[in-house]
Amino acid sequence: GDDGCRQIFSKMERTYIMIKPDGVQRGLIGEIVKRFESKGFKLVAMKLTKPSKEHMEEHYVDLKEKKFFPGLIEYMTSGPVCAMVWEGKGAVATGRKMLGATMPSESDPGTIRGDLCIEVGRNICHGSDSVDSANKEIAHWFPEGICEWESCSKAWIYE
Ligand code: GDP
Ligand code: MG
Repeated sequence: GDDGCRQIFSKMERTYIMIKPDGVQRGLIGEIVKRFESKGFKLVAMKLTKPSKEHMEEHYVDLKEKKFFPGLIEYMTSGPVCAMVWEGKGAVATGRKMLGATMPSESDPGTIRGDLCIEVGRNICHGSDSVDSANKEIAHWFPEGICEWESCSKAWIYE
């Protein structure tokens, strides 16, 4: 694209989306990836990884005083997670809407949690809650960096 276009795209927002161990075990990676792909967001990093307790505790450090914290860490380290970075206009806020409310009983039908899970302690996915946390989480999960590429469909997604 021209310079104007490059300018817009260098400012594109990124969010950290993670399919939790239950989502991986239940074979929901494809379903969740499909929703972000179909929306028009661009996948710029992805890996299957079994996080250490220390790594997971750092990811959820803001929740360390909660009584569910030990159970959360046990759940999140019980198997591989699918760590991803998705890029696009409004990716953080829209990503959260696509995941649905934290409590699956309150997640709207049509959202990932609303459609695919029942309990808060098995809510299958994570999404950054702000641009600031997205940047922190991306650095935490992808210290090796992300994969920059230009999608051939960008002119058909952005006006
Ligand atoms: P999220 O940003 O929507 O994932 O929600 P939070 O950041 O508040 O919590 C992180 C994760 O901790 C949630 O996705 C749940 O898996 C878990 N969690 C949050 N609240 C509770 C709770 O009340 N009970 C249990 N068991 N887990 C919770
Ligand atoms: Mg959160």
